[in-house]
Amino acid sequence: MTTIEQPMTFDQATRRVDHAQMFIDGRWGPASAGVTFATVDPATGRTIAAVPRADASDVDRAVAAAKRVAVEWQFTDAITRAGLLRTLAGLVTEHAEELAQLEALDSGHYLDKARELVGAIPLWLEYWAGLADKVGGRTIEVPGNKLAFTLLEPLGVTAHIVPWNYPLLILVRSTAPALALGNTCVVKPAEDTSLSALKYAELVAEAGFPDGVFNVVTGYGAEAGAALAAHPDVMGITFTGSTETGKTVAKLGAEHIAQVNLELGGKSPTIVFPDARLDDAVEGAVQGFCSHAGQVCVAGTRLFLHRDIADEFLARLVERLRVARIGDPFDEGVQMGPLVSKKQFDRVRSYIEIGKREATLFYGGGRPAGTDVDGYFVEPTVFTDVSPSDRIAREEIFGPVLSVFTWSDEDELVAAANDSDFGLFAAIWCSDITRALSTARRLQVGGVMVNDWFGELPMAPHGGYKQSGTGREEGLESIASYTQVKHVSVNLDDSPRASADWAGAPL
Ligand code: NAD
Repeated sequence: MTTIEQPMTFDQATRRVDHAQMFIDGRWGPASAGVTFATVDPATGRTIAAVPRADASDVDRAVAAAKRVAVEWQFTDAITRAGLLRTLAGLVTEHAEELAQLEALDSGHYLDKARELVGAIPLWLEYWAGLADKVGGRTIEVPGNKLAFTLLEPLGVTAHIVPWNYPLLILVRSTAPALALGNTCVVKPAEDTSLSALKYAELVAEAGFPDGVFNVVTGYGAEAGAALAAHPDVMGITFTGSTETGKTVAKLGAEHIAQVNLELGGKSPTIVFPDARLDDAVEGAVQGFCSHAGQVCVAGTRLFLHRDIADEFLARLVERLRVARIGDPFDEGVQMGPLVSKKQFDRVRSYIEIGKREATLFYGGGRPAGTDVDGYFVEPTVFTDVSPSDRIAREEIFGPVLSVFTWSDEDELVAAANDSDFGLFAAIWCSDITRALSTARRLQVGGVMVNDWFGELPMAPHGGYKQSGTGREEGLESIASYTQVKHVSVNLDDSPRASADWAGAPL
């Protein structure tokens, strides 16, 4: 088992983390340059930890470690890899409360939600542990006396660049399949939310994964993230984040022909038909744009209401928003916490100002009553009279800001819903299932929920059309994201010469 030299300590009473270290080659340590940066509690604006700021030399060390052990890990039998993932799942369950508190403190998820998210993580680890010894190639019928087949092989060193909105879940959803299928990993958490990744690395070490198989470098995107994506020994990159940064990462990966999976932004439509069960649809719409204060890639930030029910729907929506409990993630009963950072807070507030100029402010727009003035809290905000060309209707805001449209013709509805650079997800609220499914087929998105709000699961593929991404996470479809295909062909004749005229064969 790996020696744990100095994992960080977390004092839950004072909400402070001390000596946060990076995890490279089974060892804890600072950045080579000895530099750190502050990570902040978004509910209070207070610093919670100093985190190592990795540069390219730290990334080199992590990639070198992952490369050194890549072949050994590839040929470690799948049952052993699966067993380690199962041990890790048990450790996550054992340490769930600490992980949840770190996640709530660092990312602003309210504590019960953070507990739910951490509680689900073993599902991902178990799912991929179960698949580790079942993924394989196929035999191919080729002409002649030959046996042809494929091998599905790992990519080697894989990079995992993670955003701040679901820090641990997104880290696990890509590293669990990567590890199960024989890849080694270097993770770069978002600079705002490194802490749960470092705690998780401690559990990976405790589970008994060999040194170098799983590494975490903390630091800034343009520095550590870019160095990782550009590293010539990184053969697979899973990037989850904004479309803008995704384009940069794709270019960096292209320089050395890495396989790149991009899980990017969205501007998802929530579509309500006139026969929808309105109470459910209202709750779905609220979850759609307020869950994690709107900091969700699939957030339903464009609401399409059938004209016949629009007024009643909006009245019920406002009633529901008025009773939403917004506040410190650690306070009892809170349902929505702050935005993750000052940067995000300023960005969302500036979009609200843009919205006030472009459209009609129907609800919200300010700071929720009773919240800490130093925290990054924003009220759920609803705009009506929005034009499809408005910035608030087209750009991903990543905050609790909703644009409302009305419709009456289904063809026009589909055209309007598809009128977006993004294509991640859509929700349809409709009792007539034939109508719902025919709409679902016409939407240019990677996922549709009918009469349900989003719930991410390890067995269902997740990913985007258009500028929402390439490749898939989760489900059997994501096996392709972490493997490459080798074709092997064996001539079964005693002597190839006996069955072929070699002298006359084309060269
Ligand atoms: P971001 O693009 O700013 O950062 C994501 C990660 O990339 C961070 O770790 C960051 O440090 C790193 N990074 C930044 N610049 C980089 C560079 N030049 N080279 C390499 N890495 C770099 O995104 P964010 O603000 O952290 O996250 C919010 C975005 O993520 C939203 O657009 C959201 O829709 C998207 N997201 C998508 C999914 C999905 O599954 N499709 C899931 C969650 C979040």
